[in-house]
Amino acid sequence: MAIAINHHRCTGCRACYDECPADVFAWDAATDLPIVAYPDECWHCGICSMECDEKALIHTLPPQCWNDINKRYVANLGRMSQPKQAPGSAEEETGG
Ligand code: SF4
Ligand code: SF4
Repeated sequence: MAIAINHHRCTGCRACYDECPADVFAWDAATDLPIVAYPDECWHCGICSMECDEKALIHTLPPQCWNDINKRYVANLGRMSQPKQAPGSAEEETGG
């Protein structure tokens, strides 16, 4: 499941329930705590985790998200591995 709630930490502040743009959470009236009602609707925006001051939400990205991140990382590797200008080099000295 993409989102899990640690109910030992959750204080029932409702932030995740109120802020989730995909309405993944429902409210359990019996416990007065949120439940993950529609996990397949989660689009992994991360808002709920950011809003939870108690760090009660465990957000796991699905493998496909990591594949996409890795592809983007590899595509940028060439640019990221350009050598940095050494301190005291000619270009740096002429710059001022
Ligand atoms: S934001 Fe965190 S503490 Fe608040 S209701 Fe959701 S899980 Fe519980
Ligand atoms: S990551 Fe975004 S879409 Fe998924 S449950 Fe949290 S707020 Fe909702």
